Amino acid sequence: MQEFETTEKILHLDPILTWKSCLIKIKENVSMMTYNTWFLPIKPIGLESLTLKVQIPSRFFWEWIDEHFNSLITRVLIDVLGKDARLTYIIAEEKTIEDNNNHKGKVLQVASAEKPKTKPNFESNLSTKYTFDNFIKGEGNQLARAAAGAISDNPGGTSFNPLFLYGGVGLGKTHLIQAIGNQIAKNFSDKKIIYLSSDIFTVEFVEAIQSNRVNEFSSFYRSMDVLIIDDIQFLIGKEKTQDLFFHIFNTLHQTRKQIILSSDKPPKDLKGLDERLISRFQWGLTADIQPPELETRIAILKRKSESYGMQVSNEIIEYIATYITSNIRELEGCLIKLLANASLSSKEISFELVKKTVKEIATDRKTANITIDTITKLVCEYLGVAENKIRDKTRKKEIVFARQIAMYLSKELTHSSLKTIGLHFGGRDHSTVIHACNSIDEFKTKDVPFNNLIDELRSKVEFSF
Ligand code: ADP
Ligand code: MG
Repeated sequence: MQEFETTEKILHLDPILTWKSCLIKIKENVSMMTYNTWFLPIKPIGLESLTLKVQIPSRFFWEWIDEHFNSLITRVLIDVLGKDARLTYIIAEEKTIEDNNNHKGKVLQVASAEKPKTKPNFESNLSTKYTFDNFIKGEGNQLARAAAGAISDNPGGTSFNPLFLYGGVGLGKTHLIQAIGNQIAKNFSDKKIIYLSSDIFTVEFVEAIQSNRVNEFSSFYRSMDVLIIDDIQFLIGKEKTQDLFFHIFNTLHQTRKQIILSSDKPPKDLKGLDERLISRFQWGLTADIQPPELETRIAILKRKSESYGMQVSNEIIEYIATYITSNIRELEGCLIKLLANASLSSKEISFELVKKTVKEIATDRKTANITIDTITKLVCEYLGVAENKIRDKTRKKEIVFARQIAMYLSKELTHSSLKTIGLHFGGRDHSTVIHACNSIDEFKTKDVPFNNLIDELRSKVEFSF
């Protein structure tokens, strides 16, 4: 009874809500491109009994959906409305075709609803939280911010095409490129803008290959006015995706559509990326984002703490800004951690708490970033040993020595298990790692210069981030 009432309620309440519930489930089952292309343009226009009536842009569209997604839609609809649910399609400017499975075949003449818009109604993936307004300018992001502004006023019409932004983690690349997208959407409501990261692009491409829809995939991206791809470095090693992206890039560039890219390195350092792409990335403007200087860090902390409704003294802000220097995400993280801790204990934010929090963040950063591979690389460089040798069976003295030091530091500076460490060094047993750590420990107590060497290597590893 209860269930029936609920269904009745939705039923009489709102076709839009019903369709929204369906969309949420559909989204979990299809790629973003499929979702944007085929589902978002569908408009719910009525709900009567258990029949949801939707409008679909064209006959072609309806045929495609019927062929590819009939069972998905049926399943979802039954989920939302119950087992007797049905869907009726109205094709704009044409006639209706009644659907679902057994109900197909009945064609009704109906007055066409609204004409479909020429611009398909798809999602840009932009998050509205990234704006120019809440992006704080500083020396480190000056050029990038200025270029971003110019592009937003005239997408595709400046010489900054592509705009290639690069910089370390947490410095605002994603924020800035999304802010451009949001600003363009505001300035030019008819422009088709899409934002995605290059790994999502790759996943979708693979899906498109598997389902034989590469052309559809490619033409979707070629039809954009503004293409924003984040973290383009993830295309490294993905040759087929690079090749397709190359062609999409050319089409968009030739037709003066705006391309915006971000990366953790400048184009020339993207080893493993097709040279043709690297050279194209440099056609427009390449701008870096540098870590913020003290004043900017203070400004960011002030602004963010205000927006979180926090009361923090200048002294505390300055303390945080002095100790957290390389990453804006960490500045934010620190404030949020403080806020959480203070509200948990319903205390004011004390200096003690601030010190503790800053320290925790520094520790997190180290352990998160240090890997066995970086340790190995640094140790080999320092001791002048070839990196590939360290994984070999060789018992050559200097190599065994380097290997043991690298194992020792890996044990000390990463969270890796002895087993994992052993695997990294040519599949050695965990007892070999224990033996290495013991030998190094022993050596350190006996030999002061050796002890110093280990300390120096340790700080090299820690400060390489
Ligand atoms: P990246 O993509 O370079 O790793 P993000 O854009 O994700 O970095 O930025 C990390 C966090 O710091 C985000 O929450 C972002 O809003 C914030 N942020 C970065 N730069 C600024 C800035 N100049 N002003 C305000 N917030 C910023
Ligand atoms: Mg990012």
